[in-house]
Amino acid sequence: MGDSSLTLVEDGTTALNFLKETIKSSLNDAKDAFFVADLDDVARKHWRFIKGLPRVRPYYAVKCNNSPEILRTLAILGTGFDCASQAEINMILGMGIPAADIIYANTCKQVSHIRHAAAHGVTRMTFDCESELEKVAENHPNAEMILRIKTDDAGSFSCLSRKFGAPLENCEHLLRVAKSLNVSVTGVSFHMGAGNDNLQGFHQAIGNARHLFDLGNQLGHKMRVLNIGGGFPGHPDFKPTFEEFAAVIVGSLEQYFPREEEVEVIAEPGRYYVTSAFTIAVNITTKKEKWAEDSDGRNRRELSYYLNDGLFGSFLVCKMFDKEIRLKPIVEKDCLPSAESFPSTLWGPCCTDKDIVMEDVDLPELEVGDWIFFPNMGAYYVSIHTVFNGFLAPTLSCIISKSLWPLLEPQWHKLTNKV
Ligand SMILES: *Cc1c(COP(=O)(O)O)cnc(C)c1O
Repeated sequence: MGDSSLTLVEDGTTALNFLKETIKSSLNDAKDAFFVADLDDVARKHWRFIKGLPRVRPYYAVKCNNSPEILRTLAILGTGFDCASQAEINMILGMGIPAADIIYANTCKQVSHIRHAAAHGVTRMTFDCESELEKVAENHPNAEMILRIKTDDAGSFSCLSRKFGAPLENCEHLLRVAKSLNVSVTGVSFHMGAGNDNLQGFHQAIGNARHLFDLGNQLGHKMRVLNIGGGFPGHPDFKPTFEEFAAVIVGSLEQYFPREEEVEVIAEPGRYYVTSAFTIAVNITTKKEKWAEDSDGRNRRELSYYLNDGLFGSFLVCKMFDKEIRLKPIVEKDCLPSAESFPSTLWGPCCTDKDIVMEDVDLPELEVGDWIFFPNMGAYYVSIHTVFNGFLAPTLSCIISKSLWPLLEPQWHKLTNKV
């Protein structure tokens, strides 16, 4: 991510309004692509989260979007952080955030990263297999391990349980091995996958966790942390809504973990917090047209636009998380509703035919220099990015309302990343 800036705006200013103003001003004469992030949107997500899941402390998944402004906002609002690597741990510690607010939630860790966690007091980590326990026994004797279990995430588009999580039938063995290695297991975690619309999956996973709490306690572990993972929807149109997930989780917690004082419940939301806060503006550098036959044999005019950001930049994630993409281009230009539209292709800037953002999308006729906006770009789009062909990451401008800023300001400058 390039340089970023923070601007104080009137309450109610949206990222889209702000993008349009920026474009009208002479601030961006070069017409570089840029992002705007609305920190109020992030704060609203947080308040929704704690309202829907009052028993659950969120540990924001840093990999989803590590823009410093996002990390600072969330730290001040009171989330912890889910880190998956030494560099992510350093980024959070470097902001002055205590190690106790970190969960090192990658089940398969490099030994030197485990040692780094031990040296910096990051004790809470996850595991899902025997070899991880052996590494931890040797390199991090104070670790408080959380057993990650597989879930039924078939309904999701990012089936994390293909890669992570112990099958239930292995868990007793793992709990015994941990005991024999003197590694303390303090809880259970799972991830339902991203874009999962299976509400009951949470009920089932929380029930499985209950079973493993009982088993762990019987085997001499002190089970006290339940980690319900991430995967909560970030896109405003996603169904079921966050509140529908929250209702199932609240009910399942009441059923399986009724005594609040005995269990600390945490979660690792990523996309939930940032998807809708970020909008990107891209500019058309080149326009081409051609006439081609459509499937009914009619001649139609097709337009191609070349954009200054594409698949190897901010849109790279489109290829990985297909289902949630729903790229919805918004054209800056005021067009009459009656304006004719044309089948259009949106190409990225790199010199490869693979750099294609959208194909056969209906758009009104646009010109070189016109802007196109894509909302809901906050999750992963920022953190997965290449500089292939020398096209650098867009800059980020953050906006924050005059009513939210006083809440964040007292701590804002203390959380400067020193790494
Ligand atoms: C990626 C990841 C998350 C965040 O997932 P979202 O779908 O963005 O909420 C949470 N926990 C773990 C262990 C992850 O790997």
